[in-house]
Parts: sequence; structure tokens; C-alpha cells
Amino acid sequence: MTSALYPTYARADIAFTRGEGAWLLAENGDRYLDFASGVAVLSLGHEHPHLVATLQAAAQKPWHVSNLFRIPQAESLAERLAAATFADVVFFCNSGAEAVECAIKTVRKYHAANGAPERYRIITFEGAFHGRTIATIAAGGNPKYLEGFGPPAPGFDQVAFADLDAVEAAITEETAGVLLEPVQGEGGLRVFPKEFLVRLRALCDARGLLLALDEVQCGVGRTGKFLACEHAGIVPDVVALAKGLGGGFPLGACIATREAAKGMTLGAHGSTFGGNPLAAAVGGAVLDVVLGEGFLARVAALGGLLRQRLAELEDRYPGVIETVRGEGLMFGLKTRIPNGDFAAAARAEKLLTVLAGDNVVRLLPPLIVDESDIGEAIARLDRACGRLAAPVKQLGAA
Ligand SMILES: *Cc1c(COP(=O)(O)O)cnc(C)c1O
Repeated sequence: MTSALYPTYARADIAFTRGEGAWLLAENGDRYLDFASGVAVLSLGHEHPHLVATLQAAAQKPWHVSNLFRIPQAESLAERLAAATFADVVFFCNSGAEAVECAIKTVRKYHAANGAPERYRIITFEGAFHGRTIATIAAGGNPKYLEGFGPPAPGFDQVAFADLDAVEAAITEETAGVLLEPVQGEGGLRVFPKEFLVRLRALCDARGLLLALDEVQCGVGRTGKFLACEHAGIVPDVVALAKGLGGGFPLGACIATREAAKGMTLGAHGSTFGGNPLAAAVGGAVLDVVLGEGFLARVAALGGLLRQRLAELEDRYPGVIETVRGEGLMFGLKTRIPNGDFAAAARAEKLLTVLAGDNVVRLLPPLIVDESDIGEAIARLDRACGRLAAPVKQLGAA
């Protein structure tokens, strides 16, 4: 297939024409169960009536007015994000990488505002993914993404995953903060232990560092809490959000305490499209649902069910699945065969998944899935595993 697009993606040769909830209809009539959600973007699934109605209504009003004027939809969304989280203030942008960029700038500027501009370095962790801009590939530290783009942007020091001693050893008088994904997404669904996060928070406090979290993938209810860090009971200083926040409409946000954002004063940062009326209206509609009565508890309960069913599958196909990890509706299957072969077998069963690092296949269903969707996904995964290896146990055998 030749195309005028940059050939930077390995695209499956499928185009979709309709979507409904967790289901997608392909051009050729095939029906797929979507446990990819556009890489954790479609928090409310496809064609959610409340999102469609909100976007249609917003389309009848000014689409764009610039940030030279008030945008009531963005003011209201910021207030709601602040009310739902630790944050006091919000900066809107259009993507995850931009949200992380704003988090990095917020952390650096905080120290500059405190009269310590030499404190600009940020500690990150192996396996991290923070986006594809020049700064965020340096933060992520993955050599595959840095290769050929010149010297990495300075200011990032990477340490081993969840190694507190390594963090402590990496702190210098130039260190400004620590940046991590509470649940690593692209890196392979590795969950930072709660105990580590609690001790890291204490270390940051003791050393005057800001704790910035990249919840672009794991935030906005994906793990069964609005922010994934709530599981550890820690309060961060800055958090980057995107993916699920717009339910499919491009929308990112950097949320922070007023103290952490003290350097982000008039003229310090900006975005042409950030917080535009369309995106802010849709983001508000996502919050209507995600922050609605019982929604997050339901995500957690469905996540528990999915975890249990995946564990059964792991028992049944130990030659295919090495381990299951994740939280809420964000799971990774570390496979014993190449993860691409597993995802292809799942796709042959009309189940969409996403690859991740560390030979992991991600399961990221929309947060609106129901028990029958989960049962259907497990049946398809069972058949996919059966294509790859003989089971050691019958389904349902104790
Ligand atoms: C996807 C992702 C990003 C980058 O988001 P873009 O919208 O592609 O820029 C950053 N951090 C994490 C954790 C992500 O999953």
C-alpha cells in the first residue's frame, strides 16, 4: 500500500465505518470487539450519545475564539477537574506530549520562581513513555525513539523502575522533580508499587522536589479511580492528562496545585488550540459520565472481573500467557510467544488489542463495557490462545 502519509505507523489493513459502545464495524462488514479503545482514548466507547449530542451542540456555536478571550466551557472544565482532584489550576492543550511538556515546564519554573533556576533536572524511570516531542523522548529515554534526532534534550536522569535508592542517588543540587506514570502504558503495564509511591512522595518532600505524574494513559478513571495515584493515597504536585479526557476528541490538560504552578505566570506558556470550546465541551461531557454516581466503582468491579477471567486464561494457557498485570480496566498480558503473534491471533478472532513493550499485549476496553462484553472478550481470547497452543485445562475446570 503506498500512501501520501508518512510511513511511521504499522497499520492493520482495516478501516472502520461505524462504532457503537465497545464494538466497531469494518468496511467489509466484520464486527470487532474493541479492547484497544484507540489506545485508551475512547473512555466512553464509540458514538456515546451524550458525547455526540454535546459535540453537535458545540458545533453550532463558535468553534474557536483563541485564548485572548474567556472560554466559559474551559473555565468550567478546569473547575470540575480541580474539584475532582488534588489540583487547584489547569492548563489545557491538545495531546499527551503537550500535557507532559507543560508538566516539565511547570516543575522547572517552580524552582526558577523560588530563585533556584539551576534546579531543572527531572528524574524519570526505565520503561517510561512520555510522548514523541523532542523533550518527551528525552524524558522517556527509549533509545528507539531518540535515534537519529540529534542530541537528546538535556535535563533528564533515568533510573531503574521503582528503585528508590537509585532515585536518592540520582538527586543533585540541580534536581527539580521526579516524573513517572503510576501505571506504565507503552512500557508494558508495569504498576509502580503503592509502597514505592508513598516513599517517593516522602523523599520528594524531604528534598524539596516536585512529584509530577504522567497519567495521560492511566488517568481519567482507567484504573477505577479518577487518578491512578489515588490507589496509593499520595498527593502529587502536577499531573498530565490526555487520552481518555476527551473521549476521542483531542484534549490534554496539565493540572497542578497553585503552589507547584507558581512560576506559570502571565506569558509563561501558551497554546493556540488548547482549551478551545469544542474540546472543552466534550471534556465536560466525559466528566458528566465518568464522575457520575457509581461509575468509577463499576469500572473497578468490572476490572476485578476481567482480572479474574484473565487469571483463569493464564492458568489454562501457561505456554502462551506468562503473567497478567494492571489495574482497573488497564491490563497487560505478558506473553511467552511474540506479543505481535498473540495480537494477530486475537484480531483473527475479531478482538482488538494494543501492543506494549516488554512483550506485552494491552487490554484497554472502553470504561462503559459490560459483563457480556468482558465474557465475549474472554471467549475470543480463549480461542486466540487455542490457535497458538493446546490448553492444559478445560474451560471452567477448577
Ligand atoms: C500516549 C501517551 C503520551 C503521549 O500522548 P500523545 O497524545 O500521543 O502526545 C504520553 N504519556 C503517556 C503515558 C502516554 O500513554
